[in-house]
Amino acid sequence: MTADGEGRSDETHFADADQRDAHFLRHSFAVARRSMAHGNHPFAAILVDAEGHVLIEAENGYMPDRDATAHAERLVATLACTSIAPAVRATATLYSSAEPCAMCAGAIYWAGIGRVVYGLSERRLRDFTGNHPENPTLDLPCREVFASGQRATEVSGPLLEDEAAALHVGVWDK
Ligand SMILES: [Zn+2]
Repeated sequence: MTADGEGRSDETHFADADQRDAHFLRHSFAVARRSMAHGNHPFAAILVDAEGHVLIEAENGYMPDRDATAHAERLVATLACTSIAPAVRATATLYSSAEPCAMCAGAIYWAGIGRVVYGLSERRLRDFTGNHPENPTLDLPCREVFASGQRATEVSGPLLEDEAAALHVGVWDK
């Protein structure tokens, strides 16, 4: 997990907003692959500011302490609260390899992050994980959590869902 106040400049010139979203979503997929290479679950999230700087990257943090609350989006939201100004959070986008669960959507809401883009839907993730003891996936669309709040959180997804799903093939079969 990294927080860089200066912001690492990523490619900032995109033909349109869809291309920008695809670029940063694939960035989150790459971090998710890194998470799995590090012995963790294949999930990741990144926070990108309005100018296209990657402010925070987080891999899933289940291991080494078996912390079932260390979902990547929750880690990003917590780090954003302690290191990123509220006005920047409000115009930032969190890109997540999979749809935020109820806990993570709550954390994103409390962090005041203005927009979420996700790859794999929670419903489809649940088809992969089943009732796996390390990841008994919830079944509550993040839009429902955000809709219950008092400030707007924009949501886009699922996007690039087959690429996002590929991260989970064979992972939860044991
Ligand atoms: Zn979560």
